[in-house]
Amino acid sequence: MARINDSYLKLKAGYLFPEIGRRVGEFTKANPDAQVIRLGIGDVTQPLAPAVLKAFHDAIDDLASTDRFAGYGPEQGYGWLSELIIEKSYKPLGVELKTSEMFISDGSKCDCANILDIFAMDNVVAIGDPVYPVYNDTNVMVGRTGEADDKGHYQGIVYMPFTEANNFVPELPQEKVDLIYLCFPNNPTGTVATKDELKKWVDYAIANDAIILFDAAYEAFITTPGIPHSIYEIEGAKQCAIEFRSFSKTAGFTGVRCGLVVVPEELMGTTADGETYSLNKLWNRRTSTKFNGASYPVQRAAAAVYSDEGWAQVKATIDYYMDNARIIREGLQSAGISCYGGVDSPYIWLKTPEGLSSWDFFDKLLQECHVVGTPGSGFGPAGEGFFRLSAFGDKENVTEAVKRIKEKWGK
Ligand SMILES: *Cc1c(COP(=O)(O)O)cnc(C)c1O
Repeated sequence: MARINDSYLKLKAGYLFPEIGRRVGEFTKANPDAQVIRLGIGDVTQPLAPAVLKAFHDAIDDLASTDRFAGYGPEQGYGWLSELIIEKSYKPLGVELKTSEMFISDGSKCDCANILDIFAMDNVVAIGDPVYPVYNDTNVMVGRTGEADDKGHYQGIVYMPFTEANNFVPELPQEKVDLIYLCFPNNPTGTVATKDELKKWVDYAIANDAIILFDAAYEAFITTPGIPHSIYEIEGAKQCAIEFRSFSKTAGFTGVRCGLVVVPEELMGTTADGETYSLNKLWNRRTSTKFNGASYPVQRAAAAVYSDEGWAQVKATIDYYMDNARIIREGLQSAGISCYGGVDSPYIWLKTPEGLSSWDFFDKLLQECHVVGTPGSGFGPAGEGFFRLSAFGDKENVTEAVKRIKEKWGK
């Protein structure tokens, strides 16, 4: 029989969302009339922008025509899309990029996972706690870690706690690390890092020859002026950072699938012999060999996000979600519940009242308010005592959920 990759067996069973589903199922079975409102989702709910849909339809029609048919495109994505993103989304930040530095993909989850292909196994990796689970689990899968401890921390990974005390921007690691995952605006905490805070990380990375893997999936939700949308707004970042972006949350592409990776040409790693080698070249090679490009109609739809009409529509949906975030944030605050995030991201990270554990708060919120959220401890041990609410819902439901929370906890 073929031998399996045993590293997969080290993974803790996907526990969080199945367990939420189980508890909600049990509750609704016992309380069939309860109007349960789900604010736990990390998925968008609003339809695609009309201009995006139109471009999507038009591109499909192209496929029906012999003249305009599109087959394999460039593995790195169409140049017209990269140019547009650089022009409309990076230039206004003062960031100059070449199309050869941008790789269009079918989404950011795969990119965050696949990037490990171009790095040696003996790199020391630093990951946040709490965290988007993909960074952690993909490192386990490739065999970089030992077993997990009781808390769910894997041997060999350096965990960086995101806490109230550090304002949800982790301290620099004590030991030398080689790869650092940073996600701002953050999922799950919904918090952001300032330019000065990111500068410390860029300086650390340059001083230690480390690479920052910067996940900017939520950059479009930033409302506070001066908060960086891209790691490349920080001086020196092109020497030390790879950036991931996604159309998923920005433009409702969770079911459409489009993302991108930026690998600057000046970014270098070292070979076993100690020679420097271009990471852009390696990623290009990896992409050309293992990927055949995001689909043509999807890339046309993505381009329409950056048309004047498309952007206005996409922005209106983001504003809709961010108004939900405001309703949740203000509601919690008026009920005397401390919370973070929700200003520059669609997630609100609340501190559970009465010192409840994340799961005890989950049960209480479900049973007494009929509202579902996500226990912070499910994202890592440092998330214990916290709870994530998502603003990706329907405004009426969000408003009703907040009203119920205020009735229960408001003084
Ligand atoms: C949703 C999300 C992504 C985007 O994933 P896609 O595969 O592009 O849908 C990336 N990073 C984080 C932290 C996310 O929450």
